Amino acid sequence: MFRPLDWILGLFSLDIGIDLGTANTLVYIRDRGIVINEPSWVAINKKTRRPLAIGAEAREMVGRTPGDIVAIRPLRDGVISEFEITEAMLDYFIKKAHEQMIVPFPRPRVVVGVPSGVTEVEKRAVYDATINAGARDAFLIEEPMAAAIGAGLPINETRGSMIVDIGGGTTEVAVFSMQGIVVKRSIRVAGDEMDEDILQYARSKYNLLIGERMAERVKIGIGSAFPLPEERTMTLRGRNLINGLPQAVEISSIELREAMSPSVNIIVDTVRDTLDETPPELVADLMEAGICLAGGGAQIKGLAERLEDAVKMRVWLAEDSMTCVARGAGKVLENLELWERALVGLHRGSTH
Ligand code: ADP
Ligand code: MG
Repeated sequence: MFRPLDWILGLFSLDIGIDLGTANTLVYIRDRGIVINEPSWVAINKKTRRPLAIGAEAREMVGRTPGDIVAIRPLRDGVISEFEITEAMLDYFIKKAHEQMIVPFPRPRVVVGVPSGVTEVEKRAVYDATINAGARDAFLIEEPMAAAIGAGLPINETRGSMIVDIGGGTTEVAVFSMQGIVVKRSIRVAGDEMDEDILQYARSKYNLLIGERMAERVKIGIGSAFPLPEERTMTLRGRNLINGLPQAVEISSIELREAMSPSVNIIVDTVRDTLDETPPELVADLMEAGICLAGGGAQIKGLAERLEDAVKMRVWLAEDSMTCVARGAGKVLENLELWERALVGLHRGSTH
């Protein structure tokens, strides 16, 4: 059906793709690229639960807040545990993106990538929050699907493709064919858990208490999943648990690999299990096409080599792996008809 108003609005159309990640929220605007990339943190007043700061500003407060303020990550475990706070965050980011437009008209159409484990109620909440934030139209898409589209995988075709999206809180593995997810796994082991592994290792091997940020810094610096061409070292700074004094320890990439191996092994096993469940015809396709890695946690050095060694298939890191979901969500808006099947259905009748 031809709708003249839609057609006119389309001429000015403002399309926004959002990756509501456990660690980072990204906003992509068509023809402009990524306009917002901020940590998914919200600082709230403990008593009233009112948000005081969102995004980068909230993250700065972590560990530095007075007693009545706490900084939280509402999506930490990949599901929306604190959805009023998630709503506030979504509202803030959509408005912030919208304000960046020279002509803030018309209202945007928004596609939001949501973790694949979300419940009906949570989907509803994200949908409503997006509309309440001023969206003209809101659509939801599962994150692994958006990641695959953003990475440019041929998920519209009959032949299979596979994505492993390693974020902060969750790793999502999915095999696609004909715009549908054929097999998927979602686990709560990803980048954060690697940081936790490093924290534990420093404590048990060196009696050294380090912070989460320190753990993440060494992970990004020299963390790996496979022997490096040249092993390196970095300094861990923290507090000695026995005498309470500040202490610095030189840690090697070999030790760090050992430290991170519990989480890395779980991820490798999950990829293997997913392949075990995949129908043989699709496995044959994957042997040709390989497996694509996306997400920030996939940038661990040597992870592709490690997986190749374990599953005997080609594995590669998507270009600009941290922005795949946001770009994929944006791409869907360019041709909603084409991607219709990829979107998450909402049971509209329920509350509207
Ligand atoms: P989410 O989608 O859950 O928000 P992201 O895809 O943004 O997560 O990835 C965040 C995770 O990626 C964090 O655990 C972070 O430490 C990790 N990360 C970011 N850059 C790197 C890197 N260069 N090497 C290893 N891990 C990284
Ligand atoms: Mg993600």
